[in-house]
Amino acid sequence: MSEAVLYVVATPIGNLEDMTPRALRILESVALIAAEDTRHSGRLLSHFNIKTPMIAVHDHNERQQQQKIIEKLQQGKDIALISDAGTPLISDPGFVLVREVRSAGFRVVPLPGCCALIAALCAAGVPSDRFAFEGFPPAKSQQRVNFYTALAAENRTLMFYESPHRIIDSLKDIVTAFGAERPVAIARELTKTFETFINGTAEEVLAQVEADPNQRKGEFVLMVEGAPQQDDSLLDPRSSEVLDILLEELSVKQASALAAKITGIKKKVMYQAALDRK
Ligand code: SAM
Repeated sequence: MSEAVLYVVATPIGNLEDMTPRALRILESVALIAAEDTRHSGRLLSHFNIKTPMIAVHDHNERQQQQKIIEKLQQGKDIALISDAGTPLISDPGFVLVREVRSAGFRVVPLPGCCALIAALCAAGVPSDRFAFEGFPPAKSQQRVNFYTALAAENRTLMFYESPHRIIDSLKDIVTAFGAERPVAIARELTKTFETFINGTAEEVLAQVEADPNQRKGEFVLMVEGAPQQDDSLLDPRSSEVLDILLEELSVKQASALAAKITGIKKKVMYQAALDRK
């Protein structure tokens, strides 16, 4: 394993105070910073008085630039990868580079920090134990509806990035695909002056964003709570029928206990299935 390192460095998503001391030290000490947009990152670096040279590595030149970067690493020079905001590789360039640098035998070291989806998830009050990040939904409406519809039965919290010009259409498509009652949250302008969270049913959140033009400005993370667990999947059709018949006459507790006895299915599973029917 060679000595030189590629550091993958998270940068702020709005508030410059979120820059970590370790990120500053590494950006100052490396030989080169690979940035998505050198003009954009130039402003960040000059704010912190960092004079390290930069090279542009973006979606359109990542493959060409990786050779240059590997050559620098072979010369023993450390390099830092940053994106315009947040964590590189998360809906940002860098994956191809990281994979190639690792397979060339160099160490890749993460410097964790801001990431819009994690910032949104930890404060939105949506279930955070299991979630799936799906990046940006397609830009075209029909494709977007299909994309959302394919996710409608997912039980995990679903997370998306969305642009301000598509936020209304995207929320409309969420209502279509997930239903008007599905709990939704949006996190807007995280870490910035107009940071806002909106929670409600899909229909309510859409109505709030439609009613207030300010709510359509800035940067967004969209969250859709997962579909409720369907315990029916645990019950075969016959057991399901037994439970339904008993529930017509008995309480949840009595019906599920009896149905469990008749079918041999665990009491706890039957009880949950009975609750789901109420
Ligand atoms: N790599 C970044 C990260 O770690 O979050 C994401 C880059 S992606 C190109 C940009 C998208 O992230 C924006 O369109 C928006 O959906 C989301 N985003 C970035 N900053 C945000 C912020 N301050 N508040 C809300 N969403 C943000």
